[in-house]
Amino acid sequence: MKITEIFQKQEKTFSFEFFPPKDYLTAVKFGINAGQLIKLDPSFVTVTYGAGGSTQEHTFNLVDLFQNDLGFVCMAHYTCVNATREKIAYDMRTLQDMGIENVMLLRGDPPKGHDQFPENPDGFNFGSDLIRFVNENYDFCIGAGAYPERHVEAQSMEEDLINLRMKVDAGADFLTTQMFFDNRYYWDFINKAEQKGIRCRIIPGIIPITNYKKIRKFAGAIGASIPEEISKKMEPYKDNPSEIYKIGLELAIDQCRDLLDNGAPGIHFYTLNKSRAAIDLYDNLAKDFKEVQNCFEKSLTPHVPEK
Ligand code: FAD
Repeated sequence: MKITEIFQKQEKTFSFEFFPPKDYLTAVKFGINAGQLIKLDPSFVTVTYGAGGSTQEHTFNLVDLFQNDLGFVCMAHYTCVNATREKIAYDMRTLQDMGIENVMLLRGDPPKGHDQFPENPDGFNFGSDLIRFVNENYDFCIGAGAYPERHVEAQSMEEDLINLRMKVDAGADFLTTQMFFDNRYYWDFINKAEQKGIRCRIIPGIIPITNYKKIRKFAGAIGASIPEEISKKMEPYKDNPSEIYKIGLELAIDQCRDLLDNGAPGIHFYTLNKSRAAIDLYDNLAKDFKEVQNCFEKSLTPHVPEK
């Protein structure tokens, strides 16, 4: 099923993002955590794509497993880093033959050893070019990335929004945001995107801060700012994982409530392949949001894949 069909039935969607495990031990942990999360019956699940090459094949294996063995609507992330048009065509046909109907299409980050995205004469240089190619040649529901605090390489928000509009015009059916920790960025971004004529759903991507030091480093690299109020709350406990977990969960609950109360079209959870925070968050949100409640009710009965 295409995610756009889910949008017709669900005013708000709740989705989980996974990344392919790298080795045997993390695969075992992945199975346990993903097993817990999929019991929540998310609207759809997504699997990231490793730009470096090592996890690309695993992405395809995992989307195959999620969709064809477990019966979930699944979206494969895909980047055009170092990829020729021929490779992209081959990969899209592979996904199509597998029955995958949803792809999150991204340019990807510059490969290791490059400060900037290298010119790719045999492939594509921007997300919008990849989206146009796939949209013109295949029949997928297409997702694309959006950046409430602008993409790190963009000179201005204005420039980034023009480029975002290009992705939508090229065929993106919906957008998922990069993580952010201050909802004011999201709402401001939604207004500006509307002014640019962007009318599709823009799903907020949320990550509960359960490891402050790691998230602070990662957020810095992708240009997501951590508000001072959050740093003040977390800094004193940065070496105390259980206290950070408690604070991070409370903040994420407040953040998601505010987003859902004010009309965000759902939440996309960056799970980092861990289940505890997302389950606790769901548990809390289910009290007030019927869409989450439905997931919880469904989670009490075993999931039966639709054939
Ligand atoms: P683009 O939309 O191409 O934008 C990149 C930069 O180029 C921006 O600064 C933009 O303003 C500028 N730009 C765009 N078009 C033009 C143009 N025509 N002319 C001039 N400038 C232009 N990475 C992975 O490796 N694997 C994943 O699975 C993955 N999943 C992600 C999921 C989400 C929801 C998000 C938000 C990001 C994800 N990323 C992933 C990260 C993503 O690959 C990086 O953020 C990458 O640097 C940008 O990809 P993009 O498709 O958004 O780029």
